[in-house]
Amino acid sequence: MALMGRMMSDPLLISSLLKHAERHSGETEIVSKRVEGDLHRSNWREVARRSRQAAQAFARLGCEPGDRVATLAWNGHRHMEIYYGSSGSALVCHTINPRLFPEQIVWIANDAQDRVLCFDATFLPLVEKIAPLLKTVKHFVLMTSRAHMPASTGIPGLLCFDDLLDAETGNYVWPQFDENTASSICYTSGTTGNPKGAVYSHRSTVLHAYAAALPDAMDCSSRDVILPVVPMFHVNAWGLPYSAAIVGCKFVLPGPHLDGKSLFELFEGEKVSFSAGVPTVWLGLLNYVKANNLKFSTFKRTVIGGSACPPAMMKSLQEDFGIEVIHAWGMTEMSPLGTLSKLTTRQLGLPHEQQQRLLEKQGRVIYGVDMAIIDDDGRSLPWDGVSSGNLVVRGHWVIARYFNHDESPLISVDGEPGWFPTGDVATIDADGFMQITDRSKDVIKSGGEWISSIDLENIAMAHPAVHEAAVIAARHPKWDERPLLVVVKKPDATVTREELLAFYDGRIAKWQIPDDVVFVAEIPHTATGKMQKLKLRDQFLSHKLPTA
Ligand code: AMP
Repeated sequence: MALMGRMMSDPLLISSLLKHAERHSGETEIVSKRVEGDLHRSNWREVARRSRQAAQAFARLGCEPGDRVATLAWNGHRHMEIYYGSSGSALVCHTINPRLFPEQIVWIANDAQDRVLCFDATFLPLVEKIAPLLKTVKHFVLMTSRAHMPASTGIPGLLCFDDLLDAETGNYVWPQFDENTASSICYTSGTTGNPKGAVYSHRSTVLHAYAAALPDAMDCSSRDVILPVVPMFHVNAWGLPYSAAIVGCKFVLPGPHLDGKSLFELFEGEKVSFSAGVPTVWLGLLNYVKANNLKFSTFKRTVIGGSACPPAMMKSLQEDFGIEVIHAWGMTEMSPLGTLSKLTTRQLGLPHEQQQRLLEKQGRVIYGVDMAIIDDDGRSLPWDGVSSGNLVVRGHWVIARYFNHDESPLISVDGEPGWFPTGDVATIDADGFMQITDRSKDVIKSGGEWISSIDLENIAMAHPAVHEAAVIAARHPKWDERPLLVVVKKPDATVTREELLAFYDGRIAKWQIPDDVVFVAEIPHTATGKMQKLKLRDQFLSHKLPTA
């Protein structure tokens, strides 16, 4: 019989991260640029106390283990307090992307059966509009102080977050429970059909936070000042609110102030050393810094992911500003980190151009995740940097199934079950550097945000002049991809590009409306009658968009 270890085995709980930060880095600052416009200064001790008060407040509102506490919020200390207060007390923090169309937000909140909705003042008009449609939400909480509560609102019984916390003592002991308990939910629209929820556990979140902080990953330490530009509603800001607690570093949260000037002032004023975000967020910042001939004095490195980092952007950050760019790849379904591009000792001896080409790849996996590339029959392909195949992953922080979906998305590789198909197509070289070369999933990623081609096609198909419609991604210099509508008109029907684009108004979020329309005689189909979108994509990938 195997000899069992004689070690303690406390469950890996999110509350343990906060307890650690409070005890060992209590005075280290957490600075938030708030919706109210002020620069709020707090620290890990204060955020820990308020998180305990939040846990007590949620319990007083009647929340029970497993209940979902939703947020529509920017990056700020109150959002952190909801993260820790809800998960820590066995509730489930459900961060909703406020950039989605109101109908999608309603659908997601109802699917998740959210019980409480906490939101920043920015989203008051939105929540006033959708509140009657949120079937399961019992309490609406405005994330502000009494002084900033609106005099009147269309939401009956609207609660004030700071008031709720002030009514509690904070004398609360974080409960112990199974580490596989759900901690948070994040919905992705990066799949076909309706958005799907990834349900993280305490165990997966803590392990991801450990791994993300490693030197060959995000390389976080107590000496860092971390500013996540990536929103806390995009896969938990890539785990940074948790990794920051592990290392106990200063944490700076930009709220809604994401323009180049506001970000630059916050980077400089708070001595930010490390940041993370999708490629498009750096465009505004770099333009501002270049136009005003400025330099960063403390900003040393950044993780860029969510979409491919354009080589020119990487080069500019490196050469004009001396900032190390760590190109990363991951997914909502992976908590999100999978790979990061950091050079090995041997590669540091290569000529500069070769190093650069490696850094432009999506990089190597971190321990805790494994990957493979496979052909259409599920056979793994060689790691030769040339063979390109469907990228599959498995690991401690990869989903096994989606929320409210019984069927398993997992597939077998070389006969071994349990791999998650990412929908990305990639090569892997002999050193394990993965490079995304294409995508097999039928979605469009614009500025790091998903747009469902199916939603756009369904709207076009509702137009009386449209016989058939396909929406595909066309390359865009700023947004990486933008939707292009390809239309076959009904015989004898007349409709213009402008009329079709106007048809989207009010039916979908403005930023999701296609940039252009092309009329074609027919759309290619497979033998089973499916539209051959890949063929169309190849045909129109370089289509010159009027917005480009
Ligand atoms: P999300 O779930 O919104 O984080 O989107 C995950 C998807 O974004 C991946 O499956 C890729 O298609 C894409 N993606 C993420 N990071 C990168 C990257 N560095 N390069 C290219 N595509 C990326």
